[in-house]
Amino acid sequence: MAIKQFEAESKRLLELMINSIYSHREIFLRELISNASDAIDKIYYKALTDDTIEFKKDDYYIKLTIDKENRLLTITDTGIGMTEEELQNNLGVIAKSGTFSFKNENEIKDGYDIIGQFGVGFYSSFMVADEVTVITKALGSEQAYKWHSHGIDGYTIEGCEKVDVGTEITLKIKENSEEEEFDDYLEEYRIKSIVKKYSDFIRYPIKMEVTESKLKEGSEDEYEKVQEEQTVNSMVPIWRKNKSELTDEDYENFYSEKHYGFDKPLKHVHISVDGAVRYQSILYIPKETPYNYYTKEFEKGLELYSNGVLIMEKCPDLLPDYFSFVKGMVDSEDLSLNISREILQHDRQLKLIAKNIKKKIKSQLLSLQKDERDSYLDFFESFGRQLKYGIYSDFGANKDDLQDLIMFYSSKEKELVTLDEYVSRMPEEQKYIYFASGETYERIDKLPQTELVKDKGFEILYFIDDVDEFAINVLGRYKEKEFKSVSSGDLGIEADEIVEDEEEKDQNEELFSEMKSVLSTKVKEVKASKRLKSHPVCLSTEGQISIEMEKIMQSMPDNPNMKADKVLEINLNHKVFGALKDTFKNDKQKFELYTNILYNQALLIEGLPLEDPVSFTNNICEIME
Ligand code: ADP
Ligand code: MG
Repeated sequence: MAIKQFEAESKRLLELMINSIYSHREIFLRELISNASDAIDKIYYKALTDDTIEFKKDDYYIKLTIDKENRLLTITDTGIGMTEEELQNNLGVIAKSGTFSFKNENEIKDGYDIIGQFGVGFYSSFMVADEVTVITKALGSEQAYKWHSHGIDGYTIEGCEKVDVGTEITLKIKENSEEEEFDDYLEEYRIKSIVKKYSDFIRYPIKMEVTESKLKEGSEDEYEKVQEEQTVNSMVPIWRKNKSELTDEDYENFYSEKHYGFDKPLKHVHISVDGAVRYQSILYIPKETPYNYYTKEFEKGLELYSNGVLIMEKCPDLLPDYFSFVKGMVDSEDLSLNISREILQHDRQLKLIAKNIKKKIKSQLLSLQKDERDSYLDFFESFGRQLKYGIYSDFGANKDDLQDLIMFYSSKEKELVTLDEYVSRMPEEQKYIYFASGETYERIDKLPQTELVKDKGFEILYFIDDVDEFAINVLGRYKEKEFKSVSSGDLGIEADEIVEDEEEKDQNEELFSEMKSVLSTKVKEVKASKRLKSHPVCLSTEGQISIEMEKIMQSMPDNPNMKADKVLEINLNHKVFGALKDTFKNDKQKFELYTNILYNQALLIEGLPLEDPVSFTNNICEIME
């Protein structure tokens, strides 16, 4: 019989599993039980929706058998089984590997994260076993098959005998090593406790032969060992349990059992609603951004159950896009079992649930923000951008839901603050909510345009995400206060009057208009600045498009080629202005040179590309000579 090779990626993951320093080898059992439970779900679901399949409730179970002598641990289920083709496809390839490929060998070496990204799955058996046998018979098929593998070398599949539909997985447990007592996995008490820890909530009985010491019949003090089949899990799904019976650890275990994520969630909510629509739900706010979160590949959704039976793995209609990071499940008695995807979308009950869930998530996030600030900051670091996109998308339809959740870095607090915090600190004479945009907080902090506002003692919000200005544009105001860029025309601040007499003023106007003709269409206007303190020049803008927006649009693939209307502002109190005036009177060529240098300096400060860096440096050299 030919040995088949694992798919390349599967092989590498397998390698990783076998040699893993992975500290929780015990989770292999969680994985196998969860697969068994999935397989029973599938057949149970079929039986409920297809009259030709007859099944009694007692027929659904998972069984664990230990054979210490031969070092065998067997997990048997009465699930849907696998055909030969399914065996080949499901166990020869990593289920989710399609969209993922290893980026480099280093990632494999410190492997933990990779395991995280895949979901561990069937392959985790090889963390404790050096030989795995799967015997399975699919529903509706006559022939059973045996899959067998020693790990890396590949696997074989051959026909075999099996009476009942279902799957039986046998692990040949590894010999003890220095780092791990593999013998443990052949001990009843150990297996029992692993089941309790990770799989207690599985809906089907997990049965096990347990040895008990019992009084010998007719005797008062003589004991004998008796084998007895026990159900070792409580079978009540966690969402049906009373919150007061559950610990944080229970919720965390459920999160990892379900592969919602491999982080420790920041928060969970357990909802049980008994109103117009009845449902239970457990929702999680994850800590880490999934590796593909900000890509098209990411699929949002919650698991959807109808009265305890899983009907959809990722129901997208339960979550708005801006809360797409939320993980978890919903179970409702009010949804029909064989409801199609299309009908579901329009289902009134489902819409009610979705609306309700949205509210709960919002209030959870607000309470996290208020009571557990550090956790909220972690959350915001991972998913804040998504919230800001949420404000911007759908023409601002959701802004009321989201405006209190977003945060920005504050020039004063040197940390993220909410809009509410900002506004409540505003002094009476401050008209606007000021913001400044740039690449990094450090760079924004040095922008000359911020000087006047800071001088007044007003706080400025620093925007470093592409989406920030767009989102703020959609918001327009917060609590009646308008947003204002520090680079915009009118700052609403009484600046010190520029001291110029009439004659000086006329001369300056002339000079500015000459500068404007030197710069031509590069700027819309050149004028005396009211906002500059210590810098000689800066750029401000007129109209809707800011410089930051121009940069973003320039970088878009379908560049809409929209430009900001730029104004070159000159600081009349700066020494450089004196020099400029001299050249204006005495040396027109130098005047042009200075004008160009000043304009390019303003571009540099804004983080805008110079149109001609070579001539700029040549110009600098010229004045140094
Ligand atoms: P996942 O469960 O995330 O899909 P696994 O590696 O755990 O990934 O399992 C791979 C696939 O193998 C499953 O999706 C399922 O189709 C199949 N499978 C595994 N165990 C069983 C089982 N006991 N009965 C039927 N099918 C199974
Ligand atoms: Mg699995």
